[in-house]
Amino acid sequence: MVDRRASLEQIAPGVSRLTLADNEIMHLFTINIYFVGEGPVAIVDTGTGAPEMTRGILDAWKELGSPEVAAVLLTHGHPDHIGGLGAISGATRAPVFIHPADAPAGQPFQPLAHCRRFRFGSIDVLTLHTPGHSPGHVCFYVPGRRLLLSGDLILGEGTVVVRDMAAYLASLEGLLGLDVDLIGPAHGPLVKDGSRRIRAYIEHRLMRERQVLEALGKGPKTAEGLVDLVYPGLDPRRRRAALTNITSHLQKLEAAGRARRLEDGRYDLARRGP
Ligand SMILES: [Zn+2]
Repeated sequence: MVDRRASLEQIAPGVSRLTLADNEIMHLFTINIYFVGEGPVAIVDTGTGAPEMTRGILDAWKELGSPEVAAVLLTHGHPDHIGGLGAISGATRAPVFIHPADAPAGQPFQPLAHCRRFRFGSIDVLTLHTPGHSPGHVCFYVPGRRLLLSGDLILGEGTVVVRDMAAYLASLEGLLGLDVDLIGPAHGPLVKDGSRRIRAYIEHRLMRERQVLEALGKGPKTAEGLVDLVYPGLDPRRRRAALTNITSHLQKLEAAGRARRLEDGRYDLARRGP
């Protein structure tokens, strides 16, 4: 019988992806963990900490021959990425690396900084600070495999919950110069033609921004009202995420002097046309 809860596959020489089932729609019902390296390896992200998920990660590590784990690398500090950190770093005796802006309180960690390089056997990994989904979000770029492990900056399908839209767009634009073939997201399927997906994500956010400005052009709106206009027919399970993103767009437009918040909480264009 096929075990649908966990599956391990090699996605490039020296890089394997473990797909774990998860029941959250915003996670596209999967959490992906990556093993990167030849000889010593890094484990990228640690799941929610649910016992079956942690067991799945440790079983996959055994399946790979229990290599030395030189680092547990965390893309960011949300619970579905760091929940298993204590158990995984404990079992593998590996140090934990996370950007300080996302580090959980009371857990020992090594700080990750933009452009920090690692080498796991013959495989180089470059850390890229990519805030927006969270302040300390990072991606891991494997230049030798033209592979980007994108965490929650770019998902396998659909779009991401964005808390700081200006930072998020700048993070995506910062990736444009990279040679990326394959994207390994933290949720959902692998993305082939990675550079194209990065550009599509940027265009998508700019399209949403235009839609928000157009809607405001017809008169002041609440963030909730904008969700109804910009996301017609939205799955109710995605409404909270859509509201977060609309609010992030509004904050970006406000900071840029293009929109303003009225006293009643609605938003309007900063300036009305002639
Ligand atoms: Zn996530």
